[in-house]
Amino acid sequence: MTTTTRRTFLVASTAALAHAAAFARAAGAQAAPASAGPVDPALIDDLVAANRILADQGVVDGYGHVSVRHPAKPQRYLMSRSIAPETVTAADIMEYDLDSTAVDARGRVSYLERFIHGEIYRARPDVKSVVHNHSPSVIPFGVSTVPLRPLYHMSAFLGGGVPVFDIKAAAGGPTDMLVRNPALGRALAATLGPRPAALMRGHGCVVVGASIQMAVFRSVYTEMNAKLQAQAMALGGPVTYLDDEEARLAAGSVGGTVVRPWDLWRKKALGR
Ligand SMILES: [Zn+2]
Repeated sequence: MTTTTRRTFLVASTAALAHAAAFARAAGAQAAPASAGPVDPALIDDLVAANRILADQGVVDGYGHVSVRHPAKPQRYLMSRSIAPETVTAADIMEYDLDSTAVDARGRVSYLERFIHGEIYRARPDVKSVVHNHSPSVIPFGVSTVPLRPLYHMSAFLGGGVPVFDIKAAAGGPTDMLVRNPALGRALAATLGPRPAALMRGHGCVVVGASIQMAVFRSVYTEMNAKLQAQAMALGGPVTYLDDEEARLAAGSVGGTVVRPWDLWRKKALGR
């Protein structure tokens, strides 16, 4: 009786597993989202250049990533497969939906932390490009009580304050520090709120913009501001930061000139 019961159970379990596997296959087939179609090759070139520039400027190293929202379909974004940014070429660019599911993976491996991008694009319709990096000068400000504040006009966009995302609080306990699922991506996007940058405790930061050029510009000058702020504080006296009105005015003026450094950085990074 026991044997029969066990066999019946096993048969039933096997059938259930087969059914579940078939369901998973069907769901998997359905889960691959449709492509929003090809984009202007110039945009892909800019995304490749952004990867090279961020490496050349010391914002990313073997790690870090930059994405751009699909210009024709806001529910899609484009980002390299999981390789070092400095080595990215047009052939490495993949398309994702906002769940960060690849449209056409073809065996290519995705960045573990792609959910940062998908969830910020979902939460922020104004954002057209997202950079995630571990730029070294920024790290201390994510783990200390000293807030990152705009020290000069080039980083005036930091004037609204730079929040710190604590993944332990978001996850309800210790993690491997990686934003490796949609829930953590949503929590990070919530911490970012309407701002251009957020620090990630013990990890790095996320920087966004209304264009690839703007997101790259802000990433470079967030790193620069962090380095300069630490230097200014090390001098020992009180530090005078841009006040809110100065930050607002300067961000408006400097924000209109991001193409100038972009052209320079691009030329240097691409070696032409
Ligand atoms: Zn990371």
